[in-house]
Amino acid sequence: MLTIGCHLSISRGYASAARDAVSIGANTFAFFLRNPRGGSARSVPPQEMADCRKILEENHFGKLVAHAPYTLNPCAAKPELRQYAIETMIDDLQRLDALPGNYYNFHPGSHVSQGSPKGIELTADFLNQVLPHAGTSTVLIETMAGKGSEIGRTFEEVSQIIDRVTDTSKLGVCLDTCHIWDGGYDIINDLDHVIDEFDSVIGLKRLHAIHLNDSMNPLSAHKDRHAKIGEGHIGFAPLLAVTRHPKLSHLPFILETPNELPGYAREIAMFRDAQP
Ligand code: FE
Ligand code: FE
Ligand code: ZN
Repeated sequence: MLTIGCHLSISRGYASAARDAVSIGANTFAFFLRNPRGGSARSVPPQEMADCRKILEENHFGKLVAHAPYTLNPCAAKPELRQYAIETMIDDLQRLDALPGNYYNFHPGSHVSQGSPKGIELTADFLNQVLPHAGTSTVLIETMAGKGSEIGRTFEEVSQIIDRVTDTSKLGVCLDTCHIWDGGYDIINDLDHVIDEFDSVIGLKRLHAIHLNDSMNPLSAHKDRHAKIGEGHIGFAPLLAVTRHPKLSHLPFILETPNELPGYAREIAMFRDAQP
């Protein structure tokens, strides 16, 4: 059975988010542990987490994919910004441990004017400080579109980060279909080749989750603007092929499309109900 869900708000509580997921036919979801633009996290009563865990268990959910705040820049030039990213991520990971054994993905950051090699080095240093606090979670580097000075646009850059991390037992990758498309990987005409390339450069054993998004822009646009499924430049059929690929179909798929709950319910149904 396909493991698919979407980004949900936990502002009304974790149990409420899990119930929202069930109501739209999802069996996973993504969420921010705090305001995605930064700020402090709400303190969560233990009972709320227990209620959430019960709903996930009863409905046979797959792994959840929490998301780090957008504002963190692990490879910022200023040491105080890097320190803020480290402390925020450690705090998130400690909170996430109340839902044991799930994923937490983050953007590897923008090097601004330092150059990619420096960005890669700083993000790896960041991971070396954060990963000892991962608890039962696995931290995932997200593949990026290459907007501005973002690092992680190519599989090579992601692999160079991983190569510099001392203990990679809690480290993996989250592949975003909009981002890799914008980054120049042609998943319409060449999905097998893209997957083989991922395997040879990073290793498929590191791939733990997929962000399933259409893109408002053409191949190699380096833009990062998500479109609703079937309304962008990738289209529904190639994205369906991603979810059904024998090397990917077991992974959790997270929709990050511009939708409210009814739109997400419709997109989940599109993937679940499509004829072979
Ligand atoms: Fe992301
Ligand atoms: Fe994403
Ligand atoms: Zn994006």
